[in-house]
Amino acid sequence: MKTLDLIIPCYNEAQVLPLLMNALGSVRAGLGGYDCRLIFVDDGSSDETLPLIKGFAAADSAVRYLSFSRNFGKEAAMLAGLRASSAEIVGILDADLQHSPALLPEMLAALEEGYDVAAAKRTDRSGENKLKSRLSDRFYRISNRLTDVQLDPGAQDFRVMRRAVADALLSMPEHHRFTKGLFAYVGFRTKWFPHENAERAAGETKWNLKKLADYAFDGILAFSDRLLRLPLILGALCCCGSLLALLVQLIVRLCGAAVAAVHPLVAVAFLLAGLILLSLGVLGLYLARVLAEVRSRPQYIVRESNLNAR
Ligand code: UDP
Ligand code: MG
Repeated sequence: MKTLDLIIPCYNEAQVLPLLMNALGSVRAGLGGYDCRLIFVDDGSSDETLPLIKGFAAADSAVRYLSFSRNFGKEAAMLAGLRASSAEIVGILDADLQHSPALLPEMLAALEEGYDVAAAKRTDRSGENKLKSRLSDRFYRISNRLTDVQLDPGAQDFRVMRRAVADALLSMPEHHRFTKGLFAYVGFRTKWFPHENAERAAGETKWNLKKLADYAFDGILAFSDRLLRLPLILGALCCCGSLLALLVQLIVRLCGAAVAAVHPLVAVAFLLAGLILLSLGVLGLYLARVLAEVRSRPQYIVRESNLNAR
């Protein structure tokens, strides 16, 4: 029998948790080949979430939980769940039934087929706030242009993965985590499952504009150092422009004409600004290296090998 841990981050989800347990109950009944545990991560809820989870745990030894001292955010909750899990197969799903547990048997079947990750992909954005959809589309466009990991706009955090994938995610100890990007970064063979956007079963979304903006910045800054190189490009443009202006000025003077379009002092000021920007760009190059070293991501991730066989 294979072990399976389902990680469920919860922040003030008391209204929806009984519905989730019902839905998970019927799915678990059909998962005969798996020894399934539910790992609830209470992300500092202020409602009845924790007492409810404790009630589930008292009635069912497969229910495990950990509760944060305050709200640390969904990324921290997912990380804590991954660290707490020791199963051969690990799943992550939202508490609000937007990630339909009914999809789990198909996702697990994909892992049996040989895939490493089974992931849900949103097919539409119905029921979602229009402004949030627009901003999110814009974020993916900018992020994919700026970063080396390519994110699918429809990709969700709803995933089931082999132990090796969970270990790969855990091998990246960075503080500002952006799990969607980390999934893209670690690679592995992924099967995508089209998944209709369902409305939240109860309660309200925990995201506001500020949290979403922070999340978007985390996403871009975690996977791109191109912004650090921006002063290098601006500095080079400033220097080239001002040198050209000075050259034109010189030629015009030599030809005996009165004045050129740009005053030499302005061109010199631009040249100095360009030199300062260039120096900042060089600092940015070093800072990018320092960031890479501090993040300590693994240089490579092994999918399989026979080195341990004798
Ligand atoms: N969540 C969390 N901590 C937070 C915010 C959200 O653990 O600070 C959990 C929440 O309980 C839910 C999941 O993350 O299980 C997704 O949150 P939500 O449904 O509010 O986000 P949305 O689906 O609107 O993007
Ligand atoms: Mg939700």
